[in-house]
Amino acid sequence: MIKSHTLGYPRIGAQRELKFALERHWRGEIDAGALEAVGATLRARHWAEQRDAGLDYISVGDFSFYDQVADHVLLFGCAPARFGFDGAETALARTFTLARGVASEAGADAATAAACGCGHAHSGSASGEPALEMTKWFDTNYHYLVPEFDAATRFALDPERLLCQVGEARALRHPVKVALLGPLSFLWLGKAQSSGFDRLSLLDALLPHYATLLGRLKDAGAEWVQLDEPILGLDLPAPWALAYERAYHLLHAAGLPILLATYFSPLQEHLSMACKLPVAGLHVDAVRAPEELVPVADWLPDHKVLSVGIVDGRNVWRADLDACLARLSPLLARRPGALWLAPSCSLLHVPLTLAQDGAVDPEVRPWLAGAVEKLAEVRTLQRALAEGEQAVAAELAAARAAVAARRASPRVRRPEVAQRLAALSADADRRASPFSIRSERQQARLKLPAYPTTTIGSFPQTPAIRAARAARRRGELDANAYAAVMRAEIEHAVRQQEELGIDVLVHGEAERNDMVEYFGEQLVGFAFTAGGWNQSYGSRCVKPPILYGDVARPAPMTVAWTAYAQSLTRRPLKGMLTGPVTILQWSFVRDDQPRAASCAQLALAIRDEVLDLEAAGIGIIQIDEPALREGLPLRRAGWDAYLAWAGRAFRIAAAGVADNTQVHTHMCYAEFNDILPAIAALDADVITIETSRSGMELLRGFGDFAYPNGIGPGVYDIHSPRVPDAGAMLDLLRKARAVIPPGQLWVNPDCGLKTRAWPETRAALRNMVEAARLLRAEAA
Ligand code: GLN
Ligand code: ZN
Repeated sequence: MIKSHTLGYPRIGAQRELKFALERHWRGEIDAGALEAVGATLRARHWAEQRDAGLDYISVGDFSFYDQVADHVLLFGCAPARFGFDGAETALARTFTLARGVASEAGADAATAAACGCGHAHSGSASGEPALEMTKWFDTNYHYLVPEFDAATRFALDPERLLCQVGEARALRHPVKVALLGPLSFLWLGKAQSSGFDRLSLLDALLPHYATLLGRLKDAGAEWVQLDEPILGLDLPAPWALAYERAYHLLHAAGLPILLATYFSPLQEHLSMACKLPVAGLHVDAVRAPEELVPVADWLPDHKVLSVGIVDGRNVWRADLDACLARLSPLLARRPGALWLAPSCSLLHVPLTLAQDGAVDPEVRPWLAGAVEKLAEVRTLQRALAEGEQAVAAELAAARAAVAARRASPRVRRPEVAQRLAALSADADRRASPFSIRSERQQARLKLPAYPTTTIGSFPQTPAIRAARAARRRGELDANAYAAVMRAEIEHAVRQQEELGIDVLVHGEAERNDMVEYFGEQLVGFAFTAGGWNQSYGSRCVKPPILYGDVARPAPMTVAWTAYAQSLTRRPLKGMLTGPVTILQWSFVRDDQPRAASCAQLALAIRDEVLDLEAAGIGIIQIDEPALREGLPLRRAGWDAYLAWAGRAFRIAAAGVADNTQVHTHMCYAEFNDILPAIAALDADVITIETSRSGMELLRGFGDFAYPNGIGPGVYDIHSPRVPDAGAMLDLLRKARAVIPPGQLWVNPDCGLKTRAWPETRAALRNMVEAARLLRAEAA
């Protein structure tokens, strides 16, 4: 028996209805009832799409008004006491309190989720009750709200919302599979509030609530429950792995068939355990771990369902259905038990549909598949196996043609790129001289004061900038008029910085919509969508570029703006680029070559840009790599290999310049201490890095490790509208000076300023420059 299903579905809506309804609700323009109605409409539509695709089950429980992990916090009644829920609030109000915090009395610092536009999410609330922290969901760009656990955590099942949704789906006569996070992954993904607290100690208290819930779901008419346990693909401490059997024995007793869902990473040492758990079925990710398919098919008892995640749920490529069938057919022969087919993971991570997207290059469009198209692929595979390939001959032929066209397209393979990479010498990623010599030559050229001040690159994206960009997009502003607006903004930014007395200026990035898209649009090898939205968190969506072919840089991308800015000032002006790893990380990338190969191509393009900036007289060039840390493989065993190729890509981009050209890099929003040697190995002359929110905790790592080059630990948190005073920044700088030699210490904010407004930016930078002055005075 072959069935089809999906682990989850995009929920934001084809027109981003959920986003707009949420934002209207938060602005007070629509009430909770109206927002609920939008949610119900989207659920009904998305279930209908799953049914129309021919799936045997539709997914309930994957919809969320903000985040599915936060929904579990409410489902199991374990919201942190600090929010003071008393049961009187609506579920919706509680969701938004978890997600957005509680504003202070004054309301001035209304808690909002602020984004610096870098693809990261930062929950910010200067006072009041801060929201739950946000962090990336495994190696995706989706951010979940992090549950908080401590010894006082209690659980109390609150299933009404979920049961209502099961009721809705039943009323529409859908066969229901409820998708939930499994208990161990739920606890694992939370954060212990006190050091030394063991989240696993909560398992026994949590399990009875899961068991009760499964019983209630069964009574409500659910046929299956899918319990996601993606942590089975991680390096787990032994007690966590051992807890699985106990946990699932208990849940099994509830009598609702359980599909244990794993994805994103091979099971490896957990494989046989996962196969033996007392559950009715196991889902495995055959895209990320194709090599495990046969072992799983062998280990999994015959009476259990094997659900094969055969279509890539993480990327936008149309599947090679022949290859999928070749992988699936032997399983059929091997296993008498039920075989289910699905995308590899929830389709939350791909756009809803790409088939009609008018903005995508028409040659590339047929190569792509969004969620709707992926369900059709699953269904075609199901029919091919059940009814024979002739039953779906047309679908298979169309897929074959698309895959062949993509493979043969001269737009995908440009031999000159491969040749250039092959010809690169082994030391193309090495600067000519060591840092000690470079820094002297740079100082001779730049003549910077001790503790030089700088910023991370972007200045406020003002309403004028946004309006000009929108008008340009609509064709109401021609290229010249648009450039004039941008030049005026650049000049304004330069004048402001001069007036503030900043030592190393930037042009402010007025002309950039986004730090990846801006480069992607100017590189050969990228496609763009009009509606390829992915939820990043809450109402926030991103539209990642699609890297489909060998990368080339036909012309300089930033030189004109940067040179213009430098022409306005005698102070050194820092050119700003996005690094190859970050461009790779925040795009949909090719699946027909290793990520490392795509990254190396991007590195060549950025290298060319770096050299053009240098030739234009720019003496300092920053290559941002905020995404370096998040590219780490989920399993530690893969870290070294990743850091080796990612580091080489950065250095290829950077290392072509002369000794007296200073290379900066910037990183933010991650725990860096465990990859410090790799960061040092980038050999940037200066790194500016986020530290201010952790009170410079990061510095301990940099101090212990004796970071060899220049470093600018962020002295204030740009995500807060509060203007930090000079004293607070001076304190941080004193701490920094205790671990960083004076010649290496820089003074800067912790990230770009594009989300801020000018008045607070000016005030904060004035204080920052003052803090640097005080520090110099102390040192003198
Ligand atoms: N140069 C970018 C900016 O200032 C860096 C953004 C980031 O770190 N994410 O906006
Ligand atoms: Zn940053």
